[in-house]
Amino acid sequence: MSEPAKEISGMAFAENYGKNVFSLKSMRDYLSDKAYKSLRATIEKRASLNPDIADEVAEAMKTWAVSRGATHYTHWFLPLTGATAEKHDSFISPDYEGGVILKFSGKELIQGEPDASSFPSGGLRATFEARGYTGWDPTSPAFIKRSGSGTTLCIPSVFCGYHGESLDKKTPLLRSIEALSKQIRRLGTLFGIAMDDNQVHATLGAEQEYFLIDKDRYSQRLDLLQTGRTLFGIRPAKHQQMEDHYFGAIKPRVLVFMDELDRELWKLGIPAKTRHNEVCPAQFEIAPVFEEQNLAVDHNMIIMETLTEVADRYNFACLMHEKPFAGVNGSGKHNNWSVAVSGNKNWLTPGDTPHDNAKFLTMICALMKAVDTYAPMLRASVACAGNDHRLGANEAPPAIMSIFLGEQLSDIINQLEHGAAKSSQPAGFIEIGISSLPKIPRDMTDRNRTSPLAFTGNKFEFRAVGSSQSCAGSNIVMNAIVADALDDICTELEEAVSAGKDFNESLQGVLRDIVKKHKRILFNGDNYTDDWKKEAAKRGLPNFADTPLAFAAVENDEATISMFERHKVLSREEFKARMEVYKSAYERTIHIEASCALTMAKTMIAPLAVEYQANLADSITSVSDVDKGISQDAVRKLLKDVCVETERTLNAITKLEEVLNEKRSCEEIISAMKELRQPVDMLESIIPYEIWPLPSYAEMMFIM
Ligand code: ADP
Ligand code: MG
Repeated sequence: MSEPAKEISGMAFAENYGKNVFSLKSMRDYLSDKAYKSLRATIEKRASLNPDIADEVAEAMKTWAVSRGATHYTHWFLPLTGATAEKHDSFISPDYEGGVILKFSGKELIQGEPDASSFPSGGLRATFEARGYTGWDPTSPAFIKRSGSGTTLCIPSVFCGYHGESLDKKTPLLRSIEALSKQIRRLGTLFGIAMDDNQVHATLGAEQEYFLIDKDRYSQRLDLLQTGRTLFGIRPAKHQQMEDHYFGAIKPRVLVFMDELDRELWKLGIPAKTRHNEVCPAQFEIAPVFEEQNLAVDHNMIIMETLTEVADRYNFACLMHEKPFAGVNGSGKHNNWSVAVSGNKNWLTPGDTPHDNAKFLTMICALMKAVDTYAPMLRASVACAGNDHRLGANEAPPAIMSIFLGEQLSDIINQLEHGAAKSSQPAGFIEIGISSLPKIPRDMTDRNRTSPLAFTGNKFEFRAVGSSQSCAGSNIVMNAIVADALDDICTELEEAVSAGKDFNESLQGVLRDIVKKHKRILFNGDNYTDDWKKEAAKRGLPNFADTPLAFAAVENDEATISMFERHKVLSREEFKARMEVYKSAYERTIHIEASCALTMAKTMIAPLAVEYQANLADSITSVSDVDKGISQDAVRKLLKDVCVETERTLNAITKLEEVLNEKRSCEEIISAMKELRQPVDMLESIIPYEIWPLPSYAEMMFIM
C-alpha cells in the first residue's frame, strides 16, 4: 500500500472542512431566517428548542443529508458500554401509489424510541419496560457517516429510560458542564464579572494514542480478535529501548493512512491537528485542537471510529486497548481540561492584574481541593480492566492521584499559605488583591510527564485516562468535583461579603486554608518511583492499585454519592447503576480473557508443544540408533526444557479451568492466567519460529 499519495489540488482540504456536518452555515442555507435564529439561540444559549420550528429543522436536515447521499438517519448515542450506538431508519415512506416519498418529521428528529433492553442499565430498568428514549442534543451538530455506498445522517443524542433515568454518558456530562458553569458564574459574580450561563465552557483537548498492526497478522491472533490485547507473547530483542520511534520519521504506509484519517476527520468538522509516532514501535498519536467539552467528547468517539475504519482500508488493524503488548508502552488518552468564558478567555491562565491573578489562584486552589477530596472517585473514573495493565507500569502515571504545578506555581501556592495577618507581612509572601502580588509568569513551561494531573500553563492534563475509554467519565468527575469545590469556596465568600467583611482578605483566608489542608496533593517529582509511593502513603494519599479496589472505595461512599446528587449530575440510583454496569463489564472482560487464553493454550499451544516434544525424542532415538557414542546431552537438555514447560502449561491449563468453573474471584482468575502465560511464553522462546502458531511481537511491531 505504498503508492504515492495523490496530489490534492490547492486548498481542497480546507474547503472540504466540515462538509459532512450540518453546521451553522448549512443551517443558514437550508432554514428560514426565523428558524435559523431560533435554532442558533438554542445551540448557543443551551435554551430548549422551540417546538414550532422542529418540523422545519427536520425537513432542512433531511434535504441537506439527502443531497449528500444519505438514505437513513439515526440517533447516535453513547450507552454505558463505552462505545457508540446507532439504529438506522430510512427516510422512506410509501406514497401508496407504488412509490415512496422521503420524510423526516420534527418528532422523529427530537425523539427516538429504540428497544433498549440489550443495553446495560445496571438494574435501572427491568427488561419488561424495555423501551429507551433517545433525545436530540442540538449542541453537537448532526453529521454524515459514509461506509461503502451507505450514507447515514447521525444525530447526536442522549439516551434515557422511561422515567428519565440516564442510561448514557452524554446526559451526566451535560449535567456536569451545567453544574460547573453555575459555580463559575457564582465565582464570576464575586469577582465582579457578570456572565450568562451560555458564556461558560468547559474545554477539552483529548490526545488519542493507538497502535497499528498489519491486518493479516492481527487476524491470526485469536487474543487480539477477541480481547484487543495479546494474552501471550514475548518481548522481542529490540522494542522501544533505542527511543528511536518517538517523533521519528513516519513510515510511508502509515503516513498515507494518517493523511486519509485527517481528511476524513476534517470533513466531519473535527479539527485534527497533531500526528506523530509514539514511544513504542507501531504506536502513534493523534490530537485535535481543543473544543467545547461535549463536542470534544463526541468528536473523540468519532475519532476512534474513524481510526478503525480508515485503518481497515489500508489493511491495518487499529488497536486502542490500553496494553496490547506486555512489557512495552501502552496507550493512554491525555485529557486536557480547562474552563473558558467567552469571548474565549481561559480561566486557567494567569492574568496581568492582581485581580486576574486572584481569580486564577482561586481556580488552582479549587482544583487542589477537588482532587484531594475526591481522589478515589477521580481514580475510579479511569478504572477498567485494560487500564489496570497500564497505570503505574512505568510508562503511565501511578494509581495515586496527585497534581503537578511546577516549581514556580508551587512556590506561589506555598507563599499563599504563609501570607495572611495584614500587619506583619514578611517580604515574599503573597497577599491577594494587592499590587505587590508577584507577577505570575504566563509561560510556565515546566513539564512533568509522570504526573497524573499536570498543570501545563493554561490547562490541566489528566493523563490517567485509558486509550479505549470514553472521555465522558473522567470529565463528568472533573467537572463535578471542581463544581463542588467552587461551591464551598463561593458559599464561604458570599457569607463573608454579606457579613460586611473585606473580599480580598476573606479570599486570602479561604485560599490559605485550602492550601494548608490540601497541599499534600501537590507533587512535582517523578511519580514513577517507589519513593513517591512511600511518600504518598506517608501523606495519606490513597493508592487503589486495580479496578476492583478503586470501585470498592467509592461505590458506597456517602460523600461521593451526595456530591453527585447535590450538583444534579447523577442521582443516587444512577450512580449505583453505573457502578453495577462497570463492575460487571470488568468481570466479563476478565472472564473473556481467561476463556480465550484457555482456548489458545489448549488448542493451539499445548498440542504443538507435545508434538515438538515427540519429534525431539524421536530424533534422539534415531541418532543413537545410528551411533550410541554420539553425545546428545545438549539435545536431551532441550527436550527436558520443552517437557518441563509443556507440563507446566498443561497444569496451568487445568488450574485455570478449575478457577473458571468454580466461579472464583477475578483476582484468582488473573493470577491463574499469569501462571499460564509464563510457561507458554517460555515455549515461544524455544519452539521453532516457523511452527509457532501465532505471529510474534517483532513481526507485529516492525513489519508494516
Ligand atoms: P502535548 O503532547 O505536548 O501535551 P499536544 O499538542 O499533543 O501536546 O496536545 C495538547 C492538547 O491540549 C491539544 O488537544 C490542545 O488543543 C489542547 N489544549 C490546549 N489548550 C487547551 C485548553 N485551554 N483547554 C483544553 N485543551 C487545551
Ligand atoms: Mg501529545
